[in-house]
Amino acid sequence: RVVIGILALQGAFAEHQDMLQKVSGREKIDVVQVRTPEDLARCDALIIPGGESTTIALLARLSGLTEPLKEFVRTKVIWGTCAGAILLSQSVTNAKKGGQELLGGVSVRIARNGWGSQVESFEAPLQVHGLRDSNVPFTGVFIRAPVILSLQATPSEPAIQVISRVPANLVPQCIVEDGPDQAVVALRQGRHLLTTFHPELTDDNRFHEYFVRECVVPSISS
Ligand code: GLN
Repeated sequence: RVVIGILALQGAFAEHQDMLQKVSGREKIDVVQVRTPEDLARCDALIIPGGESTTIALLARLSGLTEPLKEFVRTKVIWGTCAGAILLSQSVTNAKKGGQELLGGVSVRIARNGWGSQVESFEAPLQVHGLRDSNVPFTGVFIRAPVILSLQATPSEPAIQVISRVPANLVPQCIVEDGPDQAVVALRQGRHLLTTFHPELTDDNRFHEYFVRECVVPSISS
């Protein structure tokens, strides 16, 4: 069986677990909460939930998980949502005083809390490439979400595949300059999936199904 871990230090891990359990029946998947290096060692893939990126990084450090997580990023499948997306980024702006430890793994520059105070939290209908029934919009739930500022994959790194952008009227102030990277809210690079919103806070399990089908299962069988 395939084991998918949910990093359960802080944030919306229980919601991810519920959602994954709903889609896992057909796929022979065990879902486990990860709090220690031993928990992580059992996993074939991992979800890092939304929450508070600085807190998650600090708790990972205290739990002895930072180095094992960095190693996991290099070899296994990870999906980061919101705070989890920040942790998987290569660099971050708007970090809290004292800095923000990152795991890296995805070649993007990201702005913490980048949508500005008027739109701290909002929902947006998203078209997502590759989702089941992809003509039916997926409700993106954004909560003090990060903004992807730029995609920075070098030629030697796996290419970044953008799978969703927010509608043009929602493009945040911090990326108003024209550019192909504008308003990206979901992408894949190599084994990793990154979403700046919270699919686990909807009752639509298509994103979890996508993760299992497109990211986890192919990596196990290859
Ligand atoms: N603003 C949070 C952070 O910086 C992320 C918010 C979220 O995960 N919903 O970590």
